[in-house]
Amino acid sequence: MVKRGADTLVAKIIPLGAGQEVGRSCVILKYMGKTVMFDCGVHPGFSGEQSLPYFDSIDLDSVDLMLVTHFHLDHCAAVPYVVGKTVFKGRIFMTHPTKAIFGMLLKDSVKVSRGATDAGLYSEKDVEAALERTELLDFHQTIDVDGIKVTAWRAGHVLGAAMFMVEIAGMRALYTGDYSRLADRHMSAADLPSPPPHIVIVEATYGVSRHLPREGREQRFVNMIRAVVQRGGRCLLPVVALGRAQELMLILEDYWDRNADLRGVPIYQASGLARRALGIFQTYIAMMNDDIKAAFGQSANPFNFKYITELKTQGGLDDVGPCVVLATPSMLQSGLSRELFDAWCEDKRNGVIIADFAVQGTLARDILASPSHVLTKAGAKVPLRMSVEHISFSAHADFDQTSQFVELLDPPHVILVHGEAVEMGRLRKALEQQAVALGQRRLLYTPKVCQPVHIRHRPQLKAKVVGSLADKNAQPGKPLAGLLVQQGQNCMLMAPQDLPTFTKLHPGRIIQRQVLHLNQPWPELRLALEVLIDGVQGAGDLGSVSSGDASGESLRVANTVTLTHRPPDSVVMEWQGDPVGDAIADTVIAVILQSGSEPPAVSSAEVKRRKCLHMGDLEGAAAAEVALLVAVLDAQFGKAHIDADQGLITIQVDDRHVAVECKTGKVECADFALKARVEVAISRLMEALAPASLQE
Ligand SMILES: [Zn+2]
Ligand SMILES: [Zn+2]
Repeated sequence: MVKRGADTLVAKIIPLGAGQEVGRSCVILKYMGKTVMFDCGVHPGFSGEQSLPYFDSIDLDSVDLMLVTHFHLDHCAAVPYVVGKTVFKGRIFMTHPTKAIFGMLLKDSVKVSRGATDAGLYSEKDVEAALERTELLDFHQTIDVDGIKVTAWRAGHVLGAAMFMVEIAGMRALYTGDYSRLADRHMSAADLPSPPPHIVIVEATYGVSRHLPREGREQRFVNMIRAVVQRGGRCLLPVVALGRAQELMLILEDYWDRNADLRGVPIYQASGLARRALGIFQTYIAMMNDDIKAAFGQSANPFNFKYITELKTQGGLDDVGPCVVLATPSMLQSGLSRELFDAWCEDKRNGVIIADFAVQGTLARDILASPSHVLTKAGAKVPLRMSVEHISFSAHADFDQTSQFVELLDPPHVILVHGEAVEMGRLRKALEQQAVALGQRRLLYTPKVCQPVHIRHRPQLKAKVVGSLADKNAQPGKPLAGLLVQQGQNCMLMAPQDLPTFTKLHPGRIIQRQVLHLNQPWPELRLALEVLIDGVQGAGDLGSVSSGDASGESLRVANTVTLTHRPPDSVVMEWQGDPVGDAIADTVIAVILQSGSEPPAVSSAEVKRRKCLHMGDLEGAAAAEVALLVAVLDAQFGKAHIDADQGLITIQVDDRHVAVECKTGKVECADFALKARVEVAISRLMEALAPASLQE
């Protein structure tokens, strides 16, 4: 069934992380009562709970579906925490390679964090539970999870990386995750998903900057390495264990193969993870690009490297001269890459090449500003003499790719995530200008973390008319009324009695019953209801007003509420609980509770007046109004009398005398204050009786 709320027509997108920052990607999409979580990563610049997305700001219990784009830790490392430590109970989907590498990486990170000072956020058991819960999705496969249609598209970037197109009630949103529209040595380019989405949530990592063409970039990279080893230095390449490391190894292997003079310089890759992951990479060759597939077809496994030696232990590094070392982690936070950096940074022959996007708050980012000194992991301040170079091999889209991608998809709404505020602002402006130049209608958003974006979208609901309702011939312009039932993507319109035939539901009725105390005689209540509400039916007629209580007499009000008198002074109300019935019942209750709260003389004069008006006796009504005026003045001031001959009402308050002219309501009194009070009382009564007044 569709859960409908006040904001049903509004799609709400909330970044719980990666809003004007790079790291802890986690974006929530809410629409038509459904909730999808895209990615669930940690921030590499923080540790412990601080590295998590802001899960507190939503109800994790309400998330139907979690879609993880790829195995990089800023996109997946919080999954075991959410599964093991929160109330999340939704389904989780990844591609085959993402799940395989995700499991390996996170089990490894549990082992690493056990030895570190920072207490792990989750246990190996949580990782196992997350893997158990994770279901698989192939590229170009579409699944339907309780009315949410999901299609996975290739994102390029790294092995197994997917973009997800989500469709809820006809509204399509595309989440790119990290993507690249350029093929590299082992990955093919990202797909152009179809049909076109209404909302695109896209990474903004590189903002408006443009990558060098691949050949130029690779040439610059090998030139940098050659310069370091030729001056007798050691070259450090801090890398993410998986993805870019494999790409860089393919480039180095190829370059060493073509340059005999370099073959004496050893290349080491020091990540046991990368070694194990190669097994996975070989398994999923079919998901890589044509070059790799062709090479593998010729039985030369491109991941069996001739010039790259694996360091099984750290002590295995023969640190005697020029060499190239690929070591993790890529941001130099800790681990082997940091140890080698600390050991080598004071020698100006050495060099470090940052080949990934350098995240704010990490050492890799800090050294790009060429500081004169750095702090080692042990806390010593040492001079930074080694050369520091930056070249981007991270397979993220640059401005040319993103602007072209957005132009081709032409979505009315684009939300930028996974980028730093300044770069994101520039990209937003550039994409806005581009849309204007192209004559495309587009709104751009750059929400901060936890800042929701609201997008109105009219849901598309097609319903099939079934059962007895379908027997009636549809007439143009004539609306068909029935129950709308949604099961998955299917909507059906049917008569309530057909519910058990087409669904597992059964129609039910709620009968409301309430017993109230009666403050006035039953006939007077009936009269009050007849005056106020159309369609009061029951035994007896108006003539029976004076005939006293009839035991068990019933009234039906507006064919909805049944009132039964239970003598002497109770009334039982019954009605079917629905919006119309409840509204009429409220009115009836108000009449029952209000009447009878006045002095008896006032209410009996009022009843008499209503009765006269009801029967069209205007003269009688005017007389009743005078009686009512006397009763009201008597109740308020005491000792009110009517002098019928003179047409005056007289009131005696202590030693003061007041006279009121019945016809005009004019007040005579020597005491001005008292005169004013009486005038106010009369005008209030006139207002209450309007439009029928004394003068008429
Ligand atoms: Zn990534
Ligand atoms: Zn990322």
